[in-house]
Order: sequence, then C-alpha cells, then structure tokens
Amino acid sequence: MMHVRLTNSMTKEKQPIVPLRGNELSLYVCGITPYDAPHIGHGRCYVTFDLLYRLLAFLGFDVTYCRNFTDIDDKLLNKSEKEFGTPHKFSEIAQHYIDIFEHDMQLLNCKKPTFEPRVTQTIPEIIAFIQQLIENKNAYVVDGDVYFSIDSYPDYGALSHRKLDDLQAGARVEIDTRKRNPLDFALWKSEPDGHFYKSPWGHGRPGWHIECSAMAKKFLGKTVDIHGGGMDLIFPHHENELAQSQALQIEPFVRTWAHNAFVQINKEKMSKSLGNFFTLDDIFKQFAPQAVRFYFLQHQYRNPLDFSAHDLSQAQQGYKKLAKQFASVTPISTAVPGVASREAWAMLDFLKDDLNTPGMFGVLYKNLDAILADAQLAGQVKYILQDILGLTLEPLPEKEVEITPEIEKLLVERQQARHDKNWAKSDELRDRLKQLGYDVQDKKL
Ligand SMILES: [Zn+2]
Repeated sequence: MMHVRLTNSMTKEKQPIVPLRGNELSLYVCGITPYDAPHIGHGRCYVTFDLLYRLLAFLGFDVTYCRNFTDIDDKLLNKSEKEFGTPHKFSEIAQHYIDIFEHDMQLLNCKKPTFEPRVTQTIPEIIAFIQQLIENKNAYVVDGDVYFSIDSYPDYGALSHRKLDDLQAGARVEIDTRKRNPLDFALWKSEPDGHFYKSPWGHGRPGWHIECSAMAKKFLGKTVDIHGGGMDLIFPHHENELAQSQALQIEPFVRTWAHNAFVQINKEKMSKSLGNFFTLDDIFKQFAPQAVRFYFLQHQYRNPLDFSAHDLSQAQQGYKKLAKQFASVTPISTAVPGVASREAWAMLDFLKDDLNTPGMFGVLYKNLDAILADAQLAGQVKYILQDILGLTLEPLPEKEVEITPEIEKLLVERQQARHDKNWAKSDELRDRLKQLGYDVQDKKL
C-alpha cells in the first residue's frame, strides 16, 4: 500500500509519511491569534490539516494533533486597550474569539485536535526553553529582553530558502542597536512596570515564535512528524521555530514541513492587514458551512485559491446535488484492505498523493453513475466522503433562510403561544410568517 506523500517545504519534494515508531504520528499546526473573527484563509488552513488528520487516522495511524492559541500578543493587548482602555483585559478578548473560532471549526466539521495549548498556560515551559537557549549561547539578554542570536545557528534560512545577506538587507530598515544581528528576534519582551509574568530576566511576556517550539516539545516530544501552517508562516515564524528547537538538539525538530497556499481575492492574498478579507461568519450567512468545506476541498491545498462568491455558489449547488445523490446510501467502511473497490482505491490513491482532492473528485464524478448503481461501491465512496473528506452529506434546505431580528421575534412569540396552548394566536403568527415567506413546520411539543 502506497504511503501518504506530502510536499516538504524544506526539500520541495514529495516525501512519504512513515512513522519513526510503530504507527504513531505527530502533527503540529500553528493556530490563531484570537484578536478577531477567523477569516476564510483560516478556514482553508484548518480544513486542509483536518483532512490530513482524518486521512492518516483512516489509514490506521495513531495521530497526536496539537494546535495552539497565541492568547497573549501585541495585537491582543492593543485590542484590549482599544475596547477596555487597558491592555490587561486581553484574556477576555482572547476567550471571546476562541469561542467564535471553535464554533466555526465545528460548523466546518473539523475534528478537535488532541491538544490545544495556550501561551498563557505554557509560561513555565517557555521560560525553561529560553533559559536553555541562553545557557547554550543561542540567546542573550539585553535590558530584560531576550533575543535569539541567528549567528549562533548556521542553518538559518534553510527552510525559507533565503540567503542571509538578502534577509539582512531587508531587516536593516529598523535597526535596533541592542541587537547583535538585525535579524535576531525576541524570545522574551520585558515589561518594566512589573506586569505579566515573572522570569529570571524580570517581568514580561514571551515573543511570538518561542511558544510553538515549547509547545511542540511539551506535547509531541523532540521530533514532530508533520509541522503545518499557512505558507505565510514559513518566514519568519517557522524559520525561527526551527532555529530555536534545532539549536538545542541533534534529532530533527520536524521531519516534514507542510504548508497550504493562500486564499486570494483578485490575485492578492486575503488578509486582515490588506483589508480584503471575509470572516467565516460573513460567509456562513450566505452559504452552508458544509458547502464552504466542499469548496475548499475542490482545490489542492498547495495551489492558491481565487475566492469568488460565484464559484462558492456553484460549489454549493454541487454539494447539494452530491448530498441528494448519496442520501439513501448506507456508508460502508473501506478500512479493510481487499474490501475496497477499484474506484474507492483510486480515490484514496489521489488523497494519499499530496492530498490531491481535485484528482479524487475527478474519479468520483467520472464514475458517478456506476458508483451509484452499485450499493456496495456507493457505500464505500460515501464512507470516504464522510469519514476522510469530512463532508456530512446532510441535505441542505432548498431555500436558504435568513432569520432577521423581526422573524426571530415572531418565532419566539409563536413558540410562547404554542407553549401557552393559545392556538388562535399561534395560527395567526404562522400566517404572518408565511406572508413574510417563512413556512413554519411544527414538531410535536
Ligand atoms: Zn507556530
């Protein structure tokens, strides 16, 4: 049986995913900074790695999946300052957006990772990690701040395939004379007023990159089989993670680096900083989350996705049709080798080849009539779509209903009327809703 192969950003080649020990695999994916609602780019990233997680689990691997929350950071402190007039309510901001994120992930049918550590819960491990870097002469303290010294790590730039000279030319714009090299990055940021966390270098908080090195080590051990994230994280975030972790050990920090491409609008990267982004909640008002997942999966994760509402609408129609076609099919697990049919195998082979979902859908649509005509085959295919692709295949309502505050009020009033057994009022409210285009279907109370 062919192994799963993923493009390794380090070698730029497809690499088989083979466990070091038994059938255990570890997956680390960089999570969000919860200072705003997650956007479509986040949706694509986490659906991609959810697909990988599901595929590896389906193939019998025992996968430990860790995804962090950067719950203390400049952006969070600024937002707290703006909303509450103090930076110290950042945890409230973080919790609010973590709740939204988790709800969105649920709607997209992304499985929960094994571990979801937060920076604020990993401070002792982060401090210990920084201390080791200082002892090892990979980091230095200046006025309570701690910097990683990139000159102490000769392979700096290897992951992002950048030359140090080019990087340094770029970094010279903002020269901090306290740094030994302009590219040195902060491991610890001091807060002279005694806020945040106590450390051997005074009060402060961690810089961004160190958390992932500390968390990966804490939850997955010294070597991570697959480290994922969006392509925008390759430099500097993953380059820095790699330098920090590898500086302290001989064993490889990461065996395969996997990165998903951007979601673009008019060929520009969709991002908060460019102001050209849609939150997942915006999109879910118009489109079913399952259709959005289907839309992401129609594109191979390493290719940029040019977002358009028209394409998404088409995807929704396609998803609706697929759900209908498989509605009466009973899923049959294809996990037992030898049971799966040729078509199911062909679909799996495409998925195993660098998550080639367009190839997989190609097999599906090319053979759809034959698949649907054979209950055994249709059952196996439905299992793949539900269990690995994570598509629930629940039928979507024919007409998308937008519940306005007015409609909501009428619905609540009517619920009360039914509760009070005031049938005349309940019928009257039903008629009013019907006039507004809403057909209310009652279930037994
Ligand atoms: Zn990270």
